[in-house]
Amino acid sequence: METRTFEHWGMNLQNPLIIAGPCSVETPEQLDKTVSGLVDQGVKIIRGGVWKPRTRPGNFEGVGAIALPWIKEVKGKYGVKFAIEVANPNHVEQALDAGIDLLWIGARTTVNPFAVQEIADSLKGVDVPIFVKNPVNPDLALWIGAMERLDQAGLKRIGAIHRGFSNFNDTKYRNSPMWQLPIELKTKFPNLPLLNDPSHIGGKRDLLFDIAQMAYDLNFDGLIVESHIDPDKAWSDAAQQLTPEAFGVMLKRLKTRNTGLENPIFKHQLEQLREQIDEVDRELLEVMTRRMNLVEQVGEYKKSNNLTVFQIERWKKVFKTRAEWAQAMNLNPEFAREIFKLIHTESISKQTEIMEGTKLEK
Ligand code: PEP
Ligand code: MN
Repeated sequence: METRTFEHWGMNLQNPLIIAGPCSVETPEQLDKTVSGLVDQGVKIIRGGVWKPRTRPGNFEGVGAIALPWIKEVKGKYGVKFAIEVANPNHVEQALDAGIDLLWIGARTTVNPFAVQEIADSLKGVDVPIFVKNPVNPDLALWIGAMERLDQAGLKRIGAIHRGFSNFNDTKYRNSPMWQLPIELKTKFPNLPLLNDPSHIGGKRDLLFDIAQMAYDLNFDGLIVESHIDPDKAWSDAAQQLTPEAFGVMLKRLKTRNTGLENPIFKHQLEQLREQIDEVDRELLEVMTRRMNLVEQVGEYKKSNNLTVFQIERWKKVFKTRAEWAQAMNLNPEFAREIFKLIHTESISKQTEIMEGTKLEK
């Protein structure tokens, strides 16, 4: 894949590149006021969802194409560029007709190679900047694959957006950042512009600063952030949007790092590997939390059905299969057995607690 840094996008873009705007374009007034507020904070590229991919039908699905003339209006009035999400060739056509400056492919679209290919085909011969958000699942190849489809369609200005990955239990984040994935992407494609989307990672406005600072520390090329003139009244993603003023405060607080010694790309390799290990360990603990939550549910079930906590046949099977799985994954089976002994002890103790309402003496 041919990658080009922002300097070669021919758009005189800010460094780091800042894109901000509402999750969804809602009304002409909401758009005008938000853009006006953001322009006062120095923002030159506005984002806004026109068609919104929603998990369940009946949720607000974006106002649709009627937003396009409103966008044209604010572009003219404030001299800003505008970025929107496209999910199919019909969106692409309407966006290009309306003079939209930048496009992005959303996380729910990136997961589907058929959809991405259709978008890529519809963009053949069109020279428009396009960002690809990471897929909802932590699959780097799928993310890269989507960008390769655009590259093969002849697009020259391709960027990536890191918006985090779905997690299965409630963590601090709406979408786990799993920083090692964007780091790996940047290691493979050092010239590929990479933005961070702290809004969809955090899900709550008070988390955005730390996520964005982490992205700056990791030498990301910029941010895409959701901002709304009246966040609490937003029609989508209310909890994670910032007022333009609050966004301005956040931008001023963020420390950009000098490329050089502080830049992790140049950091000692050992340090980089350790950062990745820290992240993997955090994930291990997240997975362990999920397991223990299930163990508790089993405990409740055993309690209400008056079953014994310790069921030897089940555990024999667990020890056997886990050792076999470990072997198949090139892990030492003895190591797996030891780990599962500890997990077993903890599980029994949790379930006994549930059964008796007391802690088991260790
Ligand atoms: C969005 O940017 O508003 C959006 C829907 O994001 P994502 O595709 O990352 O979920
Ligand atoms: Mn959103």
